[in-house]
Amino acid sequence: MNIGQEVLELLKEEITEIEYKRYIQHLTYDAKKSTNDLAIFYAHNAIVINWIKSKYSEKISHLFEIKNGHKPIVQITLKNRLDKRKKQKVPEVKPANSLLNPSHSFSNFMVGGSNQFAYAAVKSVSENAGNVYNPLFIYGGVGLGKTHLMQAAGNVFQNEGKIVIYTTVEQFLNDFTRSIRNNTMERFREKYRKCDVLLIDDIQFLSNKEGIQEEFFHTFEALKGDGKQIIFTADKHPKKIAGLEARLQSRFEWGLVADIQPPELETKIAIIEKKCEINKVKLSKDIVNYIATVIDSNVREIEGILSKLHAYSQLMHVDIDLSFTKNVLKDQLRENRENIDMDSITQIVAKDLNIKPSEIKSKGRSKNIVYARRISIYICRELTQNTMPQLAQYFGMKDHTAISHTIRKINDLIKEDEDFRLKIEELSNKITASS
Ligand code: ADP
Ligand code: MG
Repeated sequence: MNIGQEVLELLKEEITEIEYKRYIQHLTYDAKKSTNDLAIFYAHNAIVINWIKSKYSEKISHLFEIKNGHKPIVQITLKNRLDKRKKQKVPEVKPANSLLNPSHSFSNFMVGGSNQFAYAAVKSVSENAGNVYNPLFIYGGVGLGKTHLMQAAGNVFQNEGKIVIYTTVEQFLNDFTRSIRNNTMERFREKYRKCDVLLIDDIQFLSNKEGIQEEFFHTFEALKGDGKQIIFTADKHPKKIAGLEARLQSRFEWGLVADIQPPELETKIAIIEKKCEINKVKLSKDIVNYIATVIDSNVREIEGILSKLHAYSQLMHVDIDLSFTKNVLKDQLRENRENIDMDSITQIVAKDLNIKPSEIKSKGRSKNIVYARRISIYICRELTQNTMPQLAQYFGMKDHTAISHTIRKINDLIKEDEDFRLKIEELSNKITASS
């Protein structure tokens, strides 16, 4: 028995049998890769990982200390069976330089209006490295799938046997400073300039870091000169990243700059369904729809929600139904929204459109006022928990059908008119930020 197994045996004594069977029993310890400072365990099911981490890693680490005097960081990762099979078959694969998440694939990426441009761009780069858009620059808000898409291309390249480096600006910087300290710059340059594909995530963090920008610039030039594919992501358009050398900024735009927008409802639903499939969680259609409407654009929340639902239902021995889901998610999802009321929404919309808040609630029919009223109704519906009749009453409309008519209209406009959609988003963000 290795020390990892011994520790899990000890843990067994401290927790209930049900917990042990459900979460701990299936963990396997990687005796080869683990060290005194890092204990690596594998789990089979992505969904329980967060749960195990939050609940047991401290304990596990402590038990290691009891056993051998060292208190390691406990890492629990998904065991990828496919990956393992491949490695056994072909032991002589080229050294992969980076850790790509194998589930970040194109087939796991749900495409909708919000992300189809970026998707198409990355896909075509993955089919034609170095030749179509080089560099490719993907930008968009948090949790919209930038890293996923970038790694999807990385996975394709890696499967073709190319050497792919995936790194964040932070890692690149750490690597760089370490190389200076240890006098190993040559190796550093070799590594970054001899790869086939370079993926750099969250490039906005280069902002105002002159030393690394210089090194980065030369890396870029070398790779580009050799026709090697480079992909960047950032939270904003390269033009909007402040504190960037002009020559870098211009190079970011050399190839193609593609944006990702927040997903529409249908895309969110498709993403949730996909995540359920991957994580083997069964949710009924009404629950999926409910989750899609209550989460904001940030898709990253979805995985946390699924794992929370799964863990709670297991521990409490209940099925996941809609009321259970609402209960579990209540605190997490509505927290920000509870503070938002209709008065503050109309105030912010009125101010933005240069009219008085009272006019929004008046019977005024002028174009501007009707426009502001419609937008306010839509945002109130999105950001507060008021029902249609409550909205009708607040806005002095005949009944709830007038409200649903307005909401349909706005939805259509959002679909047709990109500027309008951005306007609504901007207002919603202002309102959430001020609450
Ligand atoms: P970003 O890098 O833009 O902050 P990520 O790529 O890390 O976002 O995505 C956050 C999570 O959402 C990941 O689990 C990712 O798989 C998932 N995700 C985002 N967009 C999609 C999509 N269109 N289809 C499937 N999963 C998605
Ligand atoms: Mg990312």
